[in-house]
Amino acid sequence: MMPYRSWVEVSRAQIGANFEAIRQTVGANVEVMPVVKADAYRHGAVEVSRVLEERGARWLAVSNTDEGVALRDAGIRTRILVMADFLPFTREALLSYNLTPVIHSLADLAELDRLAGQRNQRVPFHLKIDTGMGRLGTRASAGEIAQAILAASHLELEGLMTHFASAGNYQNSQTDDQVALFEKTADNLAAAGVRPPLLHLSSTIPIAYHRERAWRGMVRPGHAIYGYVSPARGHAPAQNLAVKPALTWRATVLSVKDLPTGALIGYGGMFRAPQPIRIAILAAGYADGIPHRLSNRGSVILNGKLAPMIGAVSMDLTSVNVTASPEVKVGDAVTLLGSEGNVSIDAQEIAKLAGTISYSVLCGIHARVKRIYI
Ligand SMILES: *Cc1c(COP(=O)(O)O)cnc(C)c1O
Repeated sequence: MMPYRSWVEVSRAQIGANFEAIRQTVGANVEVMPVVKADAYRHGAVEVSRVLEERGARWLAVSNTDEGVALRDAGIRTRILVMADFLPFTREALLSYNLTPVIHSLADLAELDRLAGQRNQRVPFHLKIDTGMGRLGTRASAGEIAQAILAASHLELEGLMTHFASAGNYQNSQTDDQVALFEKTADNLAAAGVRPPLLHLSSTIPIAYHRERAWRGMVRPGHAIYGYVSPARGHAPAQNLAVKPALTWRATVLSVKDLPTGALIGYGGMFRAPQPIRIAILAAGYADGIPHRLSNRGSVILNGKLAPMIGAVSMDLTSVNVTASPEVKVGDAVTLLGSEGNVSIDAQEIAKLAGTISYSVLCGIHARVKRIYI
């Protein structure tokens, strides 16, 4: 028994094994840069980064400067790529903490050059090009980009990157089109004398489904580091990246009681007991990250068996039907996400039931849920 209302157990060994599996898949010539943004998809960025650094990761990627600063403060010494920031109030810290920015526009490129010049520093950066995602990244021509880079005397273009919008969709050509445009831009830049040492395009899905043409010198897996690969659509090549979830999420039973036929359970009386039932009230709710949409539809694992959620998920509490496991008592733990014996519930299954995506389920696990490392 754990003295917590709700907690996650993160397996350091599994994080390490997933990283190794990805390295095996892409081979020694492709640098693997694990993505530890959003507190490592809630697995805990500091601990996860320590594991990855110990296993030889030379690069980590975060979303914003604060995340990079937190890793530096914790003693992480790998290169750290900041993928979605360069807001004006973060620029000093970016440079002071030796973080490597991704630049998304030629105006920001000039600004970074000015800041680097002020500090009399030579600053490496990565440039993101928008090849069709329609989000971050410059849409300038190779000629314009080359001109801006050649004019930036305090900068060093270390990486050229892009991001796919529909990597898992094998029913349309969007990803192929993006790869082609990326290659064309890289070729045109090279012809203009701009040859960044690192080219990178791939997150988890193009790694897992072997879109080798998109691996180039570096890949950026997030989901797979945590043990997940989303299913692809259409005729995708076989997925054989052997990764497994590293996180188990549990909650403690706060109360157990018997209710008569006809009793209504929870807000809105969404569930009515069809016969006498025994219920357990769990000490976790949507404020902990259990999707409200699991009301009356989700399940937990109790003593190796599925126990259905009944009634609405509340802010701090969730009710489950334990009639089939009458032995349950206050203080017992159930598994919200993970496995017991051969019964398992993963973030993908939860996402399906809740009408969301597995990323959102993981990132939704609230900071108040205690994290322990095993
Ligand atoms: C989040 C992110 C990734 C990692 O994506 P996964 O699907 O989790 O592997 C890679 N690149 C960029 C730009 C990202 O924002």
